Amino acid sequence: MQQVLKITDKPEGIAAMVETMVQGPTQVLSDLSEIAAVGHRVVHGGRHYQQPVVVDDEVKATIQSLIPLAPAHNPANLQGIEAIAQSLGTIPQVAVFDTAFHSSMPEAAATYPGPYAWVEQGIRRYGFHGISHQYVAQRAAALMGRDIASLKLLTCHLGNGCSLAAVKHGVCVDTTMGFTPLDGLMMGSRSGSVDPGILIYLMRQEGYSADQLDTLLNKESGLKGLSGQSNDMRAVAEAMEQGDAQARLAIEVFIHRLRREMGGMISSLGGLDGVAFTAGVGENSPMVWQQACEPFEFLGLRLKDELDRDKADQDIAAADSAVRVLVVHTQEEWAIAQACLSLLQPNHA
Ligand code: AMP
Repeated sequence: MQQVLKITDKPEGIAAMVETMVQGPTQVLSDLSEIAAVGHRVVHGGRHYQQPVVVDDEVKATIQSLIPLAPAHNPANLQGIEAIAQSLGTIPQVAVFDTAFHSSMPEAAATYPGPYAWVEQGIRRYGFHGISHQYVAQRAAALMGRDIASLKLLTCHLGNGCSLAAVKHGVCVDTTMGFTPLDGLMMGSRSGSVDPGILIYLMRQEGYSADQLDTLLNKESGLKGLSGQSNDMRAVAEAMEQGDAQARLAIEVFIHRLRREMGGMISSLGGLDGVAFTAGVGENSPMVWQQACEPFEFLGLRLKDELDRDKADQDIAAADSAVRVLVVHTQEEWAIAQACLSLLQPNHA
């Protein structure tokens, strides 16, 4: 049964969603008091948080102070925390940061080669999608039947946003997203890394403002910008199959950049035991698996001859491949719930 609700703001929407847990066809609990804790994916923890934390006034103030680093996300995360407090009262709330997994990166990987003042101002590579990369690396190790502490893994989160992480012995040593989620790979509607000189050129020659550049690079670039059609890989791939040259170029650039950055991550790892693909494109596109992996055959990486999507996680490498290749369905909510449990009840985790 579908129900259409008239919602005017986020707190009201969250309150309505909470109610669906104890009422109507989606009821899963008999009473809201059964909820022990609420976990939030908070996008930016800056240099403050390397681990999940229980939310208190100080944590909220810190998330607030980081809004300039994540203007599109941190305000929404704070609203979510406030809305839960309104709906569920003093229940423990846990902030799990999307940047935290990357905080282990060596300084050489995290530092941008600008003036030293940037180091002091916190202008550095933070990395994002950390909850997903961490979950996927752990799951890949489990599928390989190996201890993550012995593995060099490359995790590829390819969705509307795209990023790679180099996970060495369970610890992130490099990633493609940076100070903002705009860095690195080409994405659905984000450009990924481009020559910063292009921005200076557009400002000088065409009078672009910061807001215009923001829109151009975040919303009008990537698959959408180059194909001129869509940020959705399925639609662009279909257009390519029908002979659309712009769609072909968009996919060729996407693949070229993906391979190039994968190569960079492999050098940061200093070896490769496994590659894991996740998120919308990474979980569903045999064309992307094939094309992304092709240049790494020289490492002994070989995919199965028949590749098919599966609802279950799967190993798509050939039996004799020197590198395992896993397709993992990312489960950020599950990872956040586990983080809540290990923080609030360490003996049960
Ligand atoms: P996400 O951000 O993880 O939800 O991923 C969203 C993206 O996944 C969409 O924009 C699509 O481009 C992509 N996607 C979903 N299903 C498929 C599929 N079957 N084949 C290729 N790409 C897909």
